[in-house]
Amino acid sequence: MGNSRINLYPAETATSINRGGSLDLWATNASGNEIDLRDEFHKFLYGSGSETAKGQRGILRRMNVDDDGELVVCPCVSDTTLEPDLDNPCPYCHSERYIWTEEWIVYYCTTIGRGDKKANAVDVFPAGIYADEIKYFYLEHGVEPSKVDKIIEVDRDVDGNIEVPIVRVAKYSIGTIEPMRSDNGRVEFYRIAAVKDQRLAKWDQ
Ligand SMILES: [Zn+2]
Repeated sequence: MGNSRINLYPAETATSINRGGSLDLWATNASGNEIDLRDEFHKFLYGSGSETAKGQRGILRRMNVDDDGELVVCPCVSDTTLEPDLDNPCPYCHSERYIWTEEWIVYYCTTIGRGDKKANAVDVFPAGIYADEIKYFYLEHGVEPSKVDKIIEVDRDVDGNIEVPIVRVAKYSIGTIEPMRSDNGRVEFYRIAAVKDQRLAKWDQ
């Protein structure tokens, strides 16, 4: 995590289990002297008086669900092959197969090496993927991502400003979502292992 000053692996340092009977069974919030990781992570992403912002703006392509919680299949999907038309990108789902809604997110990301022991999630990804095509994305607790969603990186100029109109330069499929919890079980932030999707629709570019 480079120079990060917040602990991004709270689960590994959790000590509440050792405090046994002193735990307050009805406690709902972090105690007064406990670091609020949600707050720390927010400052890490957006910056604060003492530190520069380390987050990047990108897009979360959230798959829509119907009243039964099922993904909404786009009308462009073939009844026979059950695949979207990849050669003629559909203006609605952009060959995604399902109908989605995009929203801005701010994330911090790092590259996962294939040899990274922590990255057991990498095993679920297909062979033939370069190491720098697998990343961890760290998202704030309020995002509540789903495994079927996609994370999209956008192009920016030399000063770091997002190019307008938006240019989608890479799309990542989610492999695993880890809710990183503090001692009281509250989700402080999410760590997502994701792999670059080789099928960025022509429409997206
Ligand atoms: Zn479609």
